[in-house]
Amino acid sequence: MHVAFPPTRAYIDRMATKLYAHPVFLEHLTPPGHPERPDRLRAVTQVLAAEAFDPLLREEAPMADEVTLLYAHPEKHVSAVRRAVPETGMRAIDADTAVSPKSWEAALRAVGAANAAVDDVFLGRADNAFVAARPPGHHAEKTRAMGFCLFNTAAIAARHAQKAHGAEHVAIVDWDVHHGNGTQDIFWHDATVLYCSTHQMPLYPGTGAKDETGAGNIVNAPLAPDTGSETFREAFQARVLPALRNFSPDLIIVSAGFDAHHRDPLAQINLTEADFDWATGELMDCASRHADGRLVSVLEGGYDLVGLSSSVSAHVQRLMKG
Ligand SMILES: [Zn+2]
Repeated sequence: MHVAFPPTRAYIDRMATKLYAHPVFLEHLTPPGHPERPDRLRAVTQVLAAEAFDPLLREEAPMADEVTLLYAHPEKHVSAVRRAVPETGMRAIDADTAVSPKSWEAALRAVGAANAAVDDVFLGRADNAFVAARPPGHHAEKTRAMGFCLFNTAAIAARHAQKAHGAEHVAIVDWDVHHGNGTQDIFWHDATVLYCSTHQMPLYPGTGAKDETGAGNIVNAPLAPDTGSETFREAFQARVLPALRNFSPDLIIVSAGFDAHHRDPLAQINLTEADFDWATGELMDCASRHADGRLVSVLEGGYDLVGLSSSVSAHVQRLMKG
């Protein structure tokens, strides 16, 4: 039989979605009252234990090959983080960012999981993947740990896709409510990686204006405080999606922070689970058109446990559904 329109991934009922996690992500400790706390991941783990997530392909986050850290950071940054990790107790790197004895392992497993997820989607072991890890990564600049972040997981994974799998164009889409200054910094001169961010402005870390465009590869879509779904979707449709289509990525990496949820205490953007479901679908659409469906999503922020877990649930269900 002649098949004029062979089925694409978009027509397959269920995607093969991988989930990376590891108990050590609960052992990266932060001071009492700190928003980026182990309970975040307990809430995510709990929601992903529901029956709806039985089809997930679950895997323990492997340790990253340390060489891959150098894809985004110079050796002196890597050794500074390593030296900062205390044998007991906790040590502050800056006013927001702390390390404890297991932080090195947690950070390396976060990076290792993102790299492994990239391998999975390029080798056909999964259609897409979600990395449920902490610490987050998008504030980590080339030479600076900041904003709860030690190494820039999404940036390293993007370079890993280029080095290990010959990807020419990798897009990072960051819908965390804070601008990913670190990812922007790392790729400022590198037009092979597109960085698109929606974020509240003004807000920490202060970067992310529309006129910050790097080598033409940085697309910032700042959102005013107290806006919500409509403004977010308009910005996504007007700025992020056209840039993505034009760039034709071989892989989409999502810096998936869920602190633009209306319940989040750190910002004033009023998104709901439905917005994360929608945005996930739009990115999957783009990935299936340009990147054979390849999409890797890495957890960034999200500090209200109910908002975080229900948003992760919507996001991962959409990844599974296609
Ligand atoms: Zn954030």
